[in-house]
Amino acid sequence: MNANVQLHEDGALEASSLSPEERVLLLEAAVRGMRYRSSMATRRVAPLPEDVERLAYLGGVLPEDGASPASVLEDLDTFGSPATVGVTSGRYFGFVIGGSLPVTVAANWLATAWDQNAGMVTASPVSAQIERIALDWVLDVLDLPRNAAGAFVTGATMANFTALAAARHAVLNRVGWDVERQGLQGAPEITVVVGEEAHASLLRVLSLLGLGREHCIRVPCDDEGRMRADALPEVSGPVLLCAQAGNVDTGAVDPLDDLARWAHANGAWMHLDGAFALWAAASPTRRHLLAGHARADSWAIDAHKWLNVPYDCGIALVRRPDELRAALAVNAHYLTDSGMREPMHYTPEMSRRARGVEVWAALRALGRRGLADLVERCCGHAEHFARHLAAAGAEIVNRVSLNQVLVSFGSPERTLRVIDAIQRDGTCWCGGTVWQGKTAMRISVSSWATTDADVDASIAAIRRCMRVA
Ligand SMILES: *Cc1c(COP(=O)(O)O)cnc(C)c1O
Repeated sequence: MNANVQLHEDGALEASSLSPEERVLLLEAAVRGMRYRSSMATRRVAPLPEDVERLAYLGGVLPEDGASPASVLEDLDTFGSPATVGVTSGRYFGFVIGGSLPVTVAANWLATAWDQNAGMVTASPVSAQIERIALDWVLDVLDLPRNAAGAFVTGATMANFTALAAARHAVLNRVGWDVERQGLQGAPEITVVVGEEAHASLLRVLSLLGLGREHCIRVPCDDEGRMRADALPEVSGPVLLCAQAGNVDTGAVDPLDDLARWAHANGAWMHLDGAFALWAAASPTRRHLLAGHARADSWAIDAHKWLNVPYDCGIALVRRPDELRAALAVNAHYLTDSGMREPMHYTPEMSRRARGVEVWAALRALGRRGLADLVERCCGHAEHFARHLAAAGAEIVNRVSLNQVLVSFGSPERTLRVIDAIQRDGTCWCGGTVWQGKTAMRISVSSWATTDADVDASIAAIRRCMRVA
């Protein structure tokens, strides 16, 4: 043991057992991180092009000799921080990118210091237990079946992948086909039913699972992007229905009760991609929008969106744990079985970081009321945006029921000019989209940090840009 490491009788190591360099380095990282986050109040949301160009200083040929850790950190902060997108600012409304609650950043730093391998109970009892608790809380707060199985993965894409791997197993197992052993070659055909407005990542997942992104039946949607239940196809054999809660443009939710009825009548597996909107089930005033959500067989949800934990963090949930395990369990002679829930049997990965820690921290810090409040605050901000931009002469393209607002400023060209002006202005950041043929700007309010003042400042900036564009 290192001379300056002293093991105390209670097993605790003093911080002084760290070398002075390591102590200073880790404290310095915390100080720089704090300085960065506190700069958000005044800095522009998008970086300036020259700040991005200066990143070249971090490159060049990898030098023969290493640099001191302190100078490595300094370079990262000096060149990296100014080139970041101010996602934590409260005025970032692009895509559906949440911020990160301070407690989740703190939990992330501590868990990173732990450097746990979350794949196995023996490698990290603490991660396995905290994940278990966090999953129980997620099921409870979203009112999903309490004994569903769950898996912590990188995001909703992998959550969709994980849940649909379980679905693929189950629907083929019911007709006597073992897809894990035999693969899909020669397997009975699975009819995959997907809405016209499904998220692009879901189609990618279908291709990864060998089901084919175009070999599926696309169900027409209404003008909000909801699957039309009256347009569901006639089907037979193994069937997989992929529903959506929270269209990335409009926030609309498929008619889940109707879809569940159809799925049950047809013996289909119903999967629900609820990447951000599933969190609305935690809000007493919004959960009616998700009526029927608990009737699915599996769910995908992102914690790094509306729950506001750091990237990367998504969760797959599957009603019958055996079906998730059957699809993903792994066996190797050196892997001991603890007799407890072994995380790696429920995820596509083996080694991975303990991302459940941040979900636990977020839920513990928010409580039920805090989570409902976070959801409702964002929805309220979205309504405020819609009301004031409409009053300023913009057209609100969607029915604002959650945290998404679609705005048109007239012709496609003018809308693009206004979006460009907003992005240059830097007060806030909004992106564009083409919604059912119409060019529009998207406003996604998903951050805990967004205040009334942020929204008002952003509305003022958007109005300024409307005048000049
Ligand atoms: C964001 C999103 C995804 C993809 O999630 P990632 O975390 O980016 O992988 C999938 N589906 C929906 C509905 C989404 O909003």
